[in-house]
Amino acid sequence: MSVYLALNRLFPNSFTAKVFFIAFLGTHIPLIAATAYLFWRTGGVAGNMQLALLLLGATLVGTAVTLLSLHAILRPLYRVGAAMRYFEQERQRAPLPDNLNDELGELMRLTNRLVLGVDAELRESHVAATTDPLTGAFNRRGFTQKLANAPFHSGALLYVDLDHFKQVNDRFGHDMGDAVLLATADTLRNALRHQDLCARFGGEEFVVFLPGESTSDAARIAERLRQAIAAEVRAGTEPVTASIGVARLDHPDHLQNAMSCADDALYRAKAAGRNRIELAA
Ligand code: GH3
Ligand code: MG
Ligand code: MG
Repeated sequence: MSVYLALNRLFPNSFTAKVFFIAFLGTHIPLIAATAYLFWRTGGVAGNMQLALLLLGATLVGTAVTLLSLHAILRPLYRVGAAMRYFEQERQRAPLPDNLNDELGELMRLTNRLVLGVDAELRESHVAATTDPLTGAFNRRGFTQKLANAPFHSGALLYVDLDHFKQVNDRFGHDMGDAVLLATADTLRNALRHQDLCARFGGEEFVVFLPGESTSDAARIAERLRQAIAAEVRAGTEPVTASIGVARLDHPDHLQNAMSCADDALYRAKAAGRNRIELAA
């Protein structure tokens, strides 16, 4: 490291400059030696001007070729840096060649492996942080993030709550309760379009966002979801039902407000006897 550190004082910001400097010194040794020799034997270069000019020209050409070649051969090193920066800034992988066996080849392979590993771990922890492990649906955080990050079209928000779910747990056990939650998520997913968002907001409460749907169309979809749950979700042999509140969502920032409107509507659906849908006022 000592040569590197010494050169670092001269060229603190460029590894290329350090390598160029060493190459520059190296390519000039023959010229310096020849000049010293001429001075020693003849007292100057005047009597051997042709030879001196030839040496000088050859040294300049040699230096230029060396520096250009060095720049070209250092490319893989620059590519490693570029791949790391790209991953850090864009979270995208730019795989490097993995079939080279020298030190730079090894560095590129290590970089590939490291970036692949970190990428997989980041993806895994992102999925864990944004997904409900029981149903595989988004959790509240995943839903909010998706709403904020994807291009937004105003639409309708559905607040879906299973009816008397506590009794399912009490009568059939917690495992059956979990199976009912999973079946509910599957039923919702199967009935929705790919652009719709479905999330479990905790307990037996699901939230669905239907982009581009008017409230009246959303009411028809909510009714279809209600019927699908009543027809397909079972606790043992007993049908499970859900109540649904429907509200409008015009902007991701208004999610809290829309949720509370949908929750009010849901409360009215519960009060009116459950297994029904209600629209927000
Ligand atoms: P309502 O019709 O008024 O909505 O009544 P409910 O029984 O569905 O509502 P309540 O809020 O009284 O009960 C919800 C229950 O959901 C209570 C809790 O034990 C259960 N629960 C919450 N999370 C889970 C879970 O992950 N798995 C299971 N099996 N049960 C859960
Ligand atoms: Mg409930
Ligand atoms: Mg509830």
